[in-house]
Amino acid sequence: MKNYNLIATAAAGIEGIVNQELKKLGYETQTENGRVRFSGTAQDIAKTNLWLRTADRIKINIAEFKASSFEELFDQTYAIAWEDILPMDAEFPVSGKSVKSQLYSVPNCQRIVKKAIAKRLMDYYARKMPLSETGNYYPIEISLLKDMAMITLDTSGTSLFKRGYRTEKGGAPLKENMAAALVKLTTWFPDRPLYDPTCGSGTILIEAALMGRNIAPGLNRSFAAEKWEFFNPEVWPQEKADARRQINHEIELNIFGSDIDGKMIEIARQNAENAGVGPDITFKQMQLKDYRPDQEYGILISNPPYGDRLLDEEKVRQLYQDMGDVYRPMTTWSKYFLSSDDSFEKYYGEKASKKRKLYNGALKVNYYQYWSKNK
Ligand code: SAH
Repeated sequence: MKNYNLIATAAAGIEGIVNQELKKLGYETQTENGRVRFSGTAQDIAKTNLWLRTADRIKINIAEFKASSFEELFDQTYAIAWEDILPMDAEFPVSGKSVKSQLYSVPNCQRIVKKAIAKRLMDYYARKMPLSETGNYYPIEISLLKDMAMITLDTSGTSLFKRGYRTEKGGAPLKENMAAALVKLTTWFPDRPLYDPTCGSGTILIEAALMGRNIAPGLNRSFAAEKWEFFNPEVWPQEKADARRQINHEIELNIFGSDIDGKMIEIARQNAENAGVGPDITFKQMQLKDYRPDQEYGILISNPPYGDRLLDEEKVRQLYQDMGDVYRPMTTWSKYFLSSDDSFEKYYGEKASKKRKLYNGALKVNYYQYWSKNK
């Protein structure tokens, strides 16, 4: 089977976690800003799309070359054997980005690449008419960094954070891959209690339950590359069947979520059910002040409201103070809070064991970590 140069794209700050996931799947990797490089076959493309919990997309790196003029960009793009990849009727949108490069006009770069690919295909198929683009979907990207062009083909189609289980999500949901990263950054192990006191649509807990049951996060969605003619489409059903065999049906999970908003609790229950982990998570409508832990050595993860998003600042700080009052005494627990508020520690009333800078979408946030003294 043909080997491809591949890229798993990742949000800023979580490249290292994507890298760990790839290594655990057995790949040799190279981590860069926003992406991890690895190589593999069509089978590997299916496997990584299905299994990676924290990546955004899996892309085939088609070509990398220097391009400081539109002629260079056109000629180098035209030189690629697109007929081996794209059928005559392929729909091939070209997206783009450009950083610190002479070719700074992104729309022009996109247009040139599109034109070069179209010309190559029309020449190859000896066609004079414009291409119909009525066939399968092949999303292409041209990205320029310091005059180096990289042309990629996106095998995922829709970003991997869209698992398909979240039908409703409320006001400030986390992306599913971000929620998975938050769980991976803790010391949670499936035999430990896990609690999210501001669970909203349940994303963090659902991602944890999927990990606990070893359910591949992409098992219930589709991917652009599943329909590609040049590819081995049979690898997808094989990899999916394999993933189904790997589900752990025996394990008992101890996962609990609550939220002050009863409507969110209903949504969270529905989402958990959609994800196939309904029986694994107990949800309850409750304000966080009313929580009294009845277990020890658990992991608490919370993505509370931030002043600038859901509530006004005063209320949010009162909330952080309430959190401190309830959770500080839980000394056998490890506790993790994601907030954009720089005074979180002050209101919570304790300095974090560690802070980690992350991005919640475009928003800069900190992951405040309070480790239990006795793991
Ligand atoms: N991670 C969640 C989003 C959390 S948004 C997801 O992916 O969907 C913050 C949540 O905190 C909201 O759902 C809000 O209802 C809840 N909340 C606000 N004040 C609360 C309180 N005092 N007690 C419990 N939950 C609260």
